[in-house]
Amino acid sequence: MVHKIAVIPGDGIGPEVIDAAVQVLKAVSNNLNFTYFEVGYDRFKKKGEAINDEILEKLKKFDAILFGAVASPPGIVKNYRSAILTIRRDLDLYANIRPIKSYIKKNNLDLIIFRENTEGLYSQNEYMRDKEAVAEKIVTEEKTRRLAELAYKKATEMGRKRLTIVHKANVLRLTDGLFLRVCRSVSQQYPEIVTDEKYIDNTCYQLARNPSSFDVIITTNLYGDILGDLAAGIGDGLGFAPSSNLGTRWALFEPVHGSAPDIAGKNIANPFATIISAKFMLEYLRRKKEAEILEEAIKFVIERKIFTPDLGGDFKTVAITQQIIKEIEKIQSKGTGYEAQN
Ligand code: ATP
Repeated sequence: MVHKIAVIPGDGIGPEVIDAAVQVLKAVSNNLNFTYFEVGYDRFKKKGEAINDEILEKLKKFDAILFGAVASPPGIVKNYRSAILTIRRDLDLYANIRPIKSYIKKNNLDLIIFRENTEGLYSQNEYMRDKEAVAEKIVTEEKTRRLAELAYKKATEMGRKRLTIVHKANVLRLTDGLFLRVCRSVSQQYPEIVTDEKYIDNTCYQLARNPSSFDVIITTNLYGDILGDLAAGIGDGLGFAPSSNLGTRWALFEPVHGSAPDIAGKNIANPFATIISAKFMLEYLRRKKEAEILEEAIKFVIERKIFTPDLGGDFKTVAITQQIIKEIEKIQSKGTGYEAQN
């Protein structure tokens, strides 16, 4: 079966890491069809829009979306709407799942963050009230419940033991209070998972002090965004932090990092986060064998410490991509039975 993939390279290092992921996907599968879309800040500079409704409608016709990164404009730019926030909201990609496992730093970090992806403080309902700037934080029972149900379901499937609800309900009594109450109520259906609760500030502290004490976290949009970067920093860095954005009908896969303008165009961007996100996409599309081959190839390259400068290596993005492709070809030619693909 052929799957149709929408590819959004975006800005900065986005095109470099996406090129790596697409080449690796082409090596592992003959049955993926790629269509590219120009979306992001570079598009905004040329056409006055980062994304439009026509592109959003087209994206809905694909089996999955592979996304690089988009830059944010410097300062506040009139009429600019963030492409990734627009896609998440329009396609109702309500769960941002960020697994962060440390392969290189040996600190036993092995955490999955479930971040609410469509509301909270990212609702972008901001306005001036006289001289006050106001941002609305929106939390709904419905959107919290579907995230909590997915988090507990996936945690159970993955054999996870502990789930921490991260909030600040002692201060934000109504918004975070509702989030906490709904998560608690879903937790009742999963007695085999130990549920605990932590304030966001304490979570940051405990995560930095004792990374292995966390298993699964469920939290609101902004806290999840920040915790994802913190966990990546405690782990092997942003170059190793992949993510899935899941909804009921569509799905998007992207690295946690941004467009990294400081290293763009230098062929030194770490492609692992995007390539691991591409592996999640294969799993989502139920291309199990291809995902297994890719995982094996990724592991081989990591074990040999074939890294970009962010991890102390001196390999280029393109060289790492070629190493992974070489490994894929080796695994396929071994005749392991992997080559008979769906
Ligand atoms: P944006 O405005 O798009 O969010 P940013 O530079 O503020 O860009 P990130 O892109 O997340 O934020 O980058 C933060 C830091 O991490 C930068 O110093 C960047 O070089 C580094 N970084 C991010 N991704 C990678 C990567 N894939 N490989 C190597 N370094 C990376």
